[in-house]
Amino acid sequence: MSGDSSVTDEPRVVVVGGGIAGCACALALAGRGESVTLIEENEGLGGRYTSVKLAGISRQIDNTPEMIFRSDERFLQLLATCEAREVIKLQKQTILSFIETESGRISTIQSGTLPPPNHLAKSILNANFLGLGDKIAMQKVVKAIRAMDEQYRRSLDEQIFLEWLQENGQTERAISRFWNPLVRTALNIDSSEASAAAATFLLKRGLFDKADAFDLGAFTTDLTEALAPNLRRTLATAGVDVQLNKQVTGLFREDTKVTGVSTQSGFIPAAKVILCTPISATARLLTGAGASVASHEVADRLAALQTTALLGIHAFHEGPVLPEGTNIVTCVDEPLIQTLIDRSTQLDDGKRAGLPGHWICARVANADPYLEWDDELIRTEYERVIASAFPTAPKLTDFHVVRIPRASTELRPGTQRLRPDPLDAGEGVILGGDWIDIDWPSTLEGASRAGLTAASALLEQNANKDLAGWNHEHPWPDWPEAPRRGAEGWREW
Ligand SMILES: Cc1cc2nc3c(=O)[nH]c(=O)nc-3n(C[C@H](O)[C@H](O)[C@H](O)COP(=O)(O)OP(=O)(O)OC[C@H]3O[C@@H](n4cnc5c(N)ncnc54)[C@H](O)[C@@H]3O)c2cc1C
Repeated sequence: MSGDSSVTDEPRVVVVGGGIAGCACALALAGRGESVTLIEENEGLGGRYTSVKLAGISRQIDNTPEMIFRSDERFLQLLATCEAREVIKLQKQTILSFIETESGRISTIQSGTLPPPNHLAKSILNANFLGLGDKIAMQKVVKAIRAMDEQYRRSLDEQIFLEWLQENGQTERAISRFWNPLVRTALNIDSSEASAAAATFLLKRGLFDKADAFDLGAFTTDLTEALAPNLRRTLATAGVDVQLNKQVTGLFREDTKVTGVSTQSGFIPAAKVILCTPISATARLLTGAGASVASHEVADRLAALQTTALLGIHAFHEGPVLPEGTNIVTCVDEPLIQTLIDRSTQLDDGKRAGLPGHWICARVANADPYLEWDDELIRTEYERVIASAFPTAPKLTDFHVVRIPRASTELRPGTQRLRPDPLDAGEGVILGGDWIDIDWPSTLEGASRAGLTAASALLEQNANKDLAGWNHEHPWPDWPEAPRRGAEGWREW
């Protein structure tokens, strides 16, 4: 068997996949003294968290802007440990804006002084886009979620969230204008298809648990630039052997136990292999020659998990479109133009060079039905909404659509039992992608928690006593804490 240049006498832990999960995992392990090799098939780190180059634009731009929240605590810890706090600014106060596109009327919901889960109640009462009956009904959801324990919440995984909302007395308008946009944006699936367990988890953790949980974070620079160099530097400092442009083509097994990986350039022995790869790549690796029954079973479960698409509609205008003070707005009752983000305003001064105008991004979640739409049709729809909501908007000068077919895991009813635990795939291999069963959806936070969960599973096997009992609900003890409001060193807006 041909040797790889990285082969050393002592097999290292091999982490496959240099997305957020793989990087978090590799860094956490290296921080605990493990010798780690991280293998990534692309030329850069970051995985799905990435930017694209579009025809006619001299620089790269986000595929779609990634939205994070203060509740994304492990991801924020990852940023901090990479000394990359400055790439994000977090709201000082939760602010959610909704626009009725026919009239252009904007309602803003913001956190007030009442303790959670009632911190948004006062401004919801004043919001114009909902009626009094809708608002009274919404309190029932707040109460139901507050009363829900974890065992009961997880038991809702066979139910559709829309049904759960209806059972809990929600009006059609409260569903279509409030609950559905929130769930669709965060889970990338509509309430009519989403698992009630996944959606209530999101509302509990993201909206109602802590008063600051839903403070939005915006990246202040291009996505790839924001993180990849910082990850690279931190991994190098931690002693992780990062191998880019290298695809793992198979897992090497001795009596079904995984003892290494194959790449185009040879075999790499491994003390343990941690798979932080996307669902389809993982399923392929788990079914190679000699794979155990457990490995095949996990692959079957992963094959049953589906993904959903996102669209990034990137429009460039001669000047700002959204009114001053409004940075992100949800367009109520708009199926395609769901959310408008003033990306130019989010970027730092000096980070707007090369953009062909003032950048507005319409982020389209659950976008599979729109993948076939051509750019002209999407542009017509975008221009209709802008003309109606903002009749004096500056002229559109450039327009692009980015289609991302397999953006995130689809959390339909029944998916909870398909998501595996880290050790489910048999000896020698640990699972750590954003699809493992950690309740969090397929997000930057889900990926960070998954990578750390995989790392802790390995450390536990290696009898690392300090981490006994750690689970992803706890901060990663070796990294700086996630910021609460006003935390020193973090930017707010
Ligand atoms: C367009 C878009 C918008 C999003 N918006 C948001 C958002 O607003 N907020 C949010 O929190 N999340 C968002 N997400 C989700 C979030 O980006 C992902 O959940 C997260 O980045 C997944 O990280 P991961 O490390 O688990 O997987 P990935 O990022 O998919 O990383 C897996 C890595 O494995 C590598 N790989 C695959 N096969 C092999 C192999 N055989 N050998 C070596 N390497 C391999 C891949 O190249 C990739 O780099 C968005 C995702 C997309 C696509």
